[in-house]
Amino acid sequence: MIRRQQTLGERLEERGISRRSFLKFCTTTASLLALPPAFAPRIAEALESQRRPSVIWLSFQECTGCSESILRAGSPSIESLIFEAISLDYHETLQAAAGHQAEAAREQAMAENMGKYLVVVDGSVPLGNPGFSTVAGQSNVETLKQVAKGAAAVICMGTCSAFGGIPYAKPNPTGAVPVSEIITDKPIVNVPGCPPIPAVMTSVIAHYITFGSLPELDDLGRPKVFYGQNIHDRCYRRPFYERGQFAQSFDDEGAKAGWCLYKLGCKGPTTYNACAVLKWNEGTSFPIEAGHGCLGCSEPNFWDKGSFYAPLSTATELGSGTVAAGVLAGAVLGAGAGYAGRKMQEKGKTGPFEAPPVADAGQKENS
Ligand code: SF4
Ligand code: SF4
Repeated sequence: MIRRQQTLGERLEERGISRRSFLKFCTTTASLLALPPAFAPRIAEALESQRRPSVIWLSFQECTGCSESILRAGSPSIESLIFEAISLDYHETLQAAAGHQAEAAREQAMAENMGKYLVVVDGSVPLGNPGFSTVAGQSNVETLKQVAKGAAAVICMGTCSAFGGIPYAKPNPTGAVPVSEIITDKPIVNVPGCPPIPAVMTSVIAHYITFGSLPELDDLGRPKVFYGQNIHDRCYRRPFYERGQFAQSFDDEGAKAGWCLYKLGCKGPTTYNACAVLKWNEGTSFPIEAGHGCLGCSEPNFWDKGSFYAPLSTATELGSGTVAAGVLAGAVLGAGAGYAGRKMQEKGKTGPFEAPPVADAGQKENS
């Protein structure tokens, strides 16, 4: 474990991390949070000068994908700098300590930082039977209540802790619930995704350290700056959608030409996340760019919304049509998708998606 009384500046110096890398991290974080560039020095100052906040990371019914995402162990990235800005006092996967020693470290961190520490949770909480998931002989629900009691805020990393995720899928054999169904008296920020984008996770923590508050949230408790728009509105394949050019199978000519994946089940129109902009692996790519439709993993109940490969709504097909008619069909469908998605977001709903019928228009199909 890292010594808790160090500032980040001292810590970076000790680790030999250059100031240039640190300032790059601060500038990137400011832009991700949609803050003007002038905020980068403020973030740097806050991270450097303040005592690093204690963070207790609890893992319940999860696959460790969320931790893997933020760690990027294979190629330490700029996002991993956040671990220099916090005092990670408890993380079952990362900590060297085990057994009673690990639990003692958690209790000590809680006592020393009462009312000020952050709790990060990945995984859902099983209520069906306390014995379904335990750590050090204590059920997840008891640990969560105990640790959240003295916390300043709770950050739910990943769809499992935010909305229940895969363990919550029907028939939900463990009686899994999201954190918000148990903790109701603390600020909670949901950072869904399966797993979440590393830069989103680190930016939320950096915002808290810099401003002492959580970023503005939407109706589902997600930071608006990252979850305020759907994938579809920022997808680079959108022009194909507008023109009515849809891949019909994963290996047809349309797919090879990069056409829209709507008919192959893409859930981009109803999914709010920043994947299309931030991407993965240091901005290299994201699922749609790799040729697979969005699964909708940052939305509640994404596992129970039917086949990942069924279109959200099937456009009326009137034969091959003309290019002009295809443009019209795509435009009508596209406008409807965007409108419906935004209305659902305004209402805090996430589905089912229903595009308006496409009338009097053919589609330019891949043949
Ligand atoms: S949200 Fe996804 S990556 Fe995270 S714990 Fe759940 S299943 Fe794993
Ligand atoms: S339906 Fe999917 S692939 Fe097509 S434009 Fe929308 S997000 Fe992109």
